[in-house]
Amino acid sequence: MAQVNTILVVGAGQMGGGIAQISAVAGLNVFVFDVLAEQLAKCKKLRTKLFDRAVEKGKMERADTDAALARIKYIRSLDDVRDVEWVVEAATENPELKAKIFSDLEDRFPNPDVVLATNTSSISVTQIGAAVARPERVVGMHFFNPVPIMKLVEVIKGLATTPDVVERTIALAIRLGKTPVLANDRAGFVSNRVLMPMINEAFYAWMEGVAEPEAIDNIMKLGCAHPMGPLRLADFIGLDTCLHIMNVLFTELGEDKYRPCPLLKQLVIAGRLGDKTGQGVHDYSKK
Ligand code: NAD
Repeated sequence: MAQVNTILVVGAGQMGGGIAQISAVAGLNVFVFDVLAEQLAKCKKLRTKLFDRAVEKGKMERADTDAALARIKYIRSLDDVRDVEWVVEAATENPELKAKIFSDLEDRFPNPDVVLATNTSSISVTQIGAAVARPERVVGMHFFNPVPIMKLVEVIKGLATTPDVVERTIALAIRLGKTPVLANDRAGFVSNRVLMPMINEAFYAWMEGVAEPEAIDNIMKLGCAHPMGPLRLADFIGLDTCLHIMNVLFTELGEDKYRPCPLLKQLVIAGRLGDKTGQGVHDYSKK
C-alpha cells in the first residue's frame, strides 16, 4: 500500500483546519482549499496560535511546529494543487454542495487511485458517491471536533467503495493518530444518529420551558456525566451544522422524532451559529 504524502483538504472551517493540522503534524504536505479568503486567513491564524500554545505547554518543539506550519499551503484555487494522493472534503454539510464539490474533484483528479474522502456528519456516502463516475474511490472519513484532540474516526463504506479504499482509510486514520471504527452507510451513521436527536431534544426542552439552557446543560453534565451539556455542545459544533444534520436525518429516515426544533432553526436564521459567530445558545462575544 503506497504511503500518502500529499493531502488536499476542501473547506477551511473548524473541521478542515483541524484535519490539516494533524496531517501536517504527521508529516504530510497539505493543501487547504476554501472559497472564502477570510476562512483561509482565520484558519491559518488559528493554526499558528494552537502551535504556539503547544510549544508553551511543552507538548511540541518549536522546530516541529515550524516544520508543520510550513507544510500547509492555503489556497483559493484548485489550480495550485500538485501531486495530491488523498482528498478530505470538509465543506458545509449540504448534500447539493457536496455533490457539486465531488463532481468537480473527479474532473480535476481523474486518477482513480486518488481517494476522495468526505468528512460528512450525516449524508449518505453512497449518495455523495453518486455524484461521480467512479464511486468506488469515495469513502466516509468522519473526524470529530476538536480534531487534534478527539481520537475517533468513523469510517463509512458507501455501496460502491472498494475494500482496498476502506483499508487505506483505516491505515491513514491510524497514521494520523486516530482510532478508526467502521459504521454502515445510514443517515447520521452511528455518532450523529445517537448524538444529534439528543441535542435537538435539548432545544425542544428549552423551547417548551422545561428549563433554561444553563440548567439543561448542568443537568446533563452532573447527572449523566457528559463533559459538556448538549446546548453548549451544539454551540461548539455549530448550530447550522446541527440543523443540517437534523434535516438529513428527518428527510432520510422520515420519522417525526427527527423533526428539527423550530427554536434551533430560528437561531440559525438569526445568524447565531455558536462559537464560530460569537453567539449561539450562549453568548461568547466577551471572551
Ligand atoms: P464550518 O462552517 O466551520 O466550515 C465549512 C467551510 O466550508 C467554510 O469555511 C466554508 O467557506 C467552506 N466551503 C463552503 N463551500 C465550499 C466549497 N464549495 N469549496 C470549499 N469550501 C467550501 O463547518 P465545519 O464544522 O468545519 O463542518 C465541515 C464538515 O464537517 C461538515 O460536513 C460537517 O457536517 C462535518 N463535521 C462537523 C463537525 C463539527 O463538530 N462541527 C464534526 C464532524 C464533522
